[in-house]
Amino acid sequence: MPLPKLYIPGPVDIAPETYAAMAEPIIGHRGPDFEKLYAAIQPNLKKIAGTEHNIFISTSSAWGVMEAAIKNLVQSKVLNLCCGAFSDKWYSVAKACGKQAEKIQAEWGQPIDPETVRAKLQEGGFDTVTLVHNETSTGVMNPLKEIAAIVKSFPDTLLVVDTVSSFSAVPTPMDELGIDVLLAGVQKALALPPGITIFGVSPAALKRAETTPDRGYYLDFLEFAKADKKNNTPTTPAIALLYALKHKVNAIAQEGLENRYARHTKLNKMLIAWANKHGLKSIAPPSAQSQTLLCIDNKDNRIDVPAFIKALKNKHNILINGGYGKIKGTTFRISNMGNETETTINHLTQCLDDIIKDFI
Ligand SMILES: *Cc1c(COP(=O)(O)O)cnc(C)c1O
Repeated sequence: MPLPKLYIPGPVDIAPETYAAMAEPIIGHRGPDFEKLYAAIQPNLKKIAGTEHNIFISTSSAWGVMEAAIKNLVQSKVLNLCCGAFSDKWYSVAKACGKQAEKIQAEWGQPIDPETVRAKLQEGGFDTVTLVHNETSTGVMNPLKEIAAIVKSFPDTLLVVDTVSSFSAVPTPMDELGIDVLLAGVQKALALPPGITIFGVSPAALKRAETTPDRGYYLDFLEFAKADKKNNTPTTPAIALLYALKHKVNAIAQEGLENRYARHTKLNKMLIAWANKHGLKSIAPPSAQSQTLLCIDNKDNRIDVPAFIKALKNKHNILINGGYGKIKGTTFRISNMGNETETTINHLTQCLDDIIKDFI
């Protein structure tokens, strides 16, 4: 039996062409071949991110850069916008880095209310704000544009945005929105194998880093900026993943960003239609519905989630997720990230139909 096809919200299913791209020969990273590879990735990657500045590439999962953003930027106090497992944890990570941190806590399943951000920032003392754009644990997409506009109105406050499960699937125009750090681990919305994180850093954020003590070395933003000037990374990068990234950003350019956004919206609607047909609903309000996954409400314990997931895997060799963190079992999650198409999502919903009839 082959391994199950992944419809969990990360890592997601990898295209055969991506694996093929990774099989190119490894090159020395301090030489012209690597510089060419690095430079070749930039134009399309920058277009996706909506920035005129180069994007840095860290050999770490997303948390490496999420932690690094705290270490590089926070001097007085950070405001963490919390509404699920990943965004909540960012607050704990800020404190683990020895920083002053406060949070706004939305209920899991609800988005961050921009006006609460304004009110909190008006209290003063914050120099950095963290936002998870698409909270993968709850399937909630936060109002990025509104929150960014508010943070922008506070002059010396930098905005760090995690787009791990939204990058390239919905617009996240970094420069236009005034985002100071935009980061994405590649195993979710980008559908690459895990291992690297791409991140853009604004000139203002680099300037801040210059005066932030104890940035460390491995994820020091200034080291990345220095290496980037030579089309390189500070330390040995995961070269095979850079081949995959180059292939992916070219494929995205070929698909066209607008087409890619529309595809995700359409596939997400198909998942919602499937759920509604069985009397099931997203835990997110429609206005904050993620476009890359669906987190289904099972609060009434109508469905035996672990058994449902097991049956789907055994009969159809498909893996979905049984809920994350404190909402495990009272929710379950299905992803439409990456390379999915109407055909694959139709097949998925047929398989789900086949199994769910025994559970509701
Ligand atoms: C998965 C995820 C992370 C953590 O990624 P790692 O690769 O485990 O470091 C962070 N933020 C969001 C929104 C995620 O979905």
